[in-house]
Formats: sequence, structure tokens, C-alpha cells
Amino acid sequence: QAKARGRNGYQFYAPSMTGEGVERLRLEAMLRRSIDKNEIFLNYQPQVEIDSGRLIGVEALVRWHNPELGNVTPVRFIPLAEDTGFINQLGKWVLEEACRQMIRWERAGLHVAKIAVNLSVKQFERGSIVNMVADILQETGLAPQRLQLEVTESVIMNTGDALVFINDLHSIGVGLAIDDFGTGYSSLAYLKQLPVQTLKIDRSFIKDISTDVNDEAIAIAIIQLGKSMNLSVIAEGVETEEQAAFLLRHGCNQAQGYLYSRPELPESILARWHAPARLPS
Ligand code: C2E
Ligand code: MG
Ligand code: MG
Ligand code: MG
Repeated sequence: QAKARGRNGYQFYAPSMTGEGVERLRLEAMLRRSIDKNEIFLNYQPQVEIDSGRLIGVEALVRWHNPELGNVTPVRFIPLAEDTGFINQLGKWVLEEACRQMIRWERAGLHVAKIAVNLSVKQFERGSIVNMVADILQETGLAPQRLQLEVTESVIMNTGDALVFINDLHSIGVGLAIDDFGTGYSSLAYLKQLPVQTLKIDRSFIKDISTDVNDEAIAIAIIQLGKSMNLSVIAEGVETEEQAAFLLRHGCNQAQGYLYSRPELPESILARWHAPARLPS
């Protein structure tokens, strides 16, 4: 019977309140306060041109550091944020911070051409998010062309009005990328109607690209598809020179992955990619 008692000796009445359920509630409560407590921040992962090594953009990746929990991975807290509706607040915070950071880098002398920001399917469910995005662009002064929103195939396929919203975003000049391309259920007919500019080849296909013939075939097919539809194709999760060489050989010249850089704090991005002005001679 002792097991049925809470820490303070209170009896839990709901039999479904397992340890796991309690843990989840605690996590949810902590997550809800995370923004106000300044526990949320962004890392940025460089996107590079493979042959030149040039920086072509960065992807903003959200981070949560809680003093009690330590670092919690987005793979764990994003689904929680989605389930609780907190994702709307979080998503807005991320977008605002990412756009502001572009301006800060600019002022510090680093021009990053493009910032990619992930959107959750849940952010599409409440109606068009075009006003939120437009407001943030206006307020931060970032040109819409420099923002690329990343959505997964499931966003497109499972959200009734996604096509309308995506067209709204396109109409204000924001770019769109399909993230984790190839892992979801996407109809190629749908792709034709979408104003997307970029396909991101999922990391799972890149991992064994030089040893698994199926992954190799899929990666090549995505690159070809992108070519024939006039889309740019970027590979995610590139970790080795071998993978990069493979991509280049098959016509994909854009990559993101540990080979080039892990996701980093904005200061590190600045330090590493900022070319110091040359002294007049
Ligand atoms: P994603 O958008 O596909 O982001 C790429 C993930 O792959 C990131 O994990 C990144 O750190 C990781 N990665 C990059 N290069 C490599 C590599 O070479 N090797 C390996 N093994 N991994 C690599 P992260 O930051 O843990 O994010 C995981 C996922 O969480 C993201 O996948 C995205 O779906 C979601 N996420 C992250 N930030 C946000 C956000 O601000 N909003 C929303 N809605 N989702 C986010
Ligand atoms: Mg992404
Ligand atoms: Mg991805
Ligand atoms: Mg991924």
C-alpha cells in the first residue's frame, strides 16, 4: 500500500497516475515555465556549399536547459509541447529569436544569407500563421526572402488547410523547405502544387549512403527529383568526407552535418564564420 502513496503521504486517487504519468506532468509544468525562466535558447547549425565550404545559411535548433533536469533534447520536449499546446508560444519565441539573431550577426559584420526555422504541424492547426510570421519579420526587419520555414511531409499531408497556409507564407516571400524528405508519406503530385524551394534529404538515408544500395538509390532519386522540379536539395546529417563526396558526385552541393559543424551558440557562429575586415595596406 505504501507504493500507492505519494511523497507527502497523500493517496493518489486516479489509478492511472503511474510514476510515468506523474513524471510527465512534472515535465509539462517545467516546460510551461521554461521561456519565462530563460531556460530556452537556440543553437544554429551551418549549412554549407560542399565544393567551396562557403556558408549558405543556418538552421535554428531549439534547446532547453533546466537547472534540475539538465539539457533536455527537443526530440523529447517538442512532442510534449505539441500535446499541451505550448508549441504555439514556443514556436513564436523561436521564430522571433532566430530573426533577431540574423540582425545581430549582421550588425556584428557577419552576413548569413538564410535562416531555416522548423515549424510543427500543431502550429498549422489553429489557422493561418501568416500574420504571426509577417509581424515578426516586420518587427525584426528581416527580409522575408532570408527566412526559410522547414516543415515535414506529415505537416503537408495531415493538415487540412496546410496548402492554403503554405501559399499564404509563400505570398509574403518566405521560403519553404520540406524537412526529413523521404521518410514521410508524401505524394509527388502534391509536391508539384507546393511553392517549396528546397528538399532536405533525411539523415537516415545519408548515414549508410556508401554501403547500403537502397539508401544510395533513394538519395540519388531525391537529388534527381529536385533537379527535375527545379528545387534545391540539401543533405542533412553529413558526417564524413565520403558522404560529402558521394553527394557532390551525384549533383547535390549543399549539406548540413557534423562534418562541417555541430549546432552552436551564436557567438561561436560569429567567431568561426566572420571574416575579419582586411586592414588597408
Ligand atoms: P531536424 O529539423 O531534422 O534537425 C536536424 C537534427 O539533426 C538536429 O537534432 C541536429 O542537431 C541533428 N544533426 C545535425 N547534423 C547531424 C549529424 O551530422 N549527425 C547526427 N547524428 N545528427 C545531426 P536536434 O537539434 O536534436 O533536433 C531534433 C529535431 O527536433 C529536429 O529535427 C526538429 O524536428 C525538432 N526541432 C528542433 N528545433 C525545433 C524548433 O525550434 N521547432 C520545432 N517545431 N521543432 C524543432
Ligand atoms: Mg529541420
Ligand atoms: Mg531534418
Ligand atoms: Mg531530421
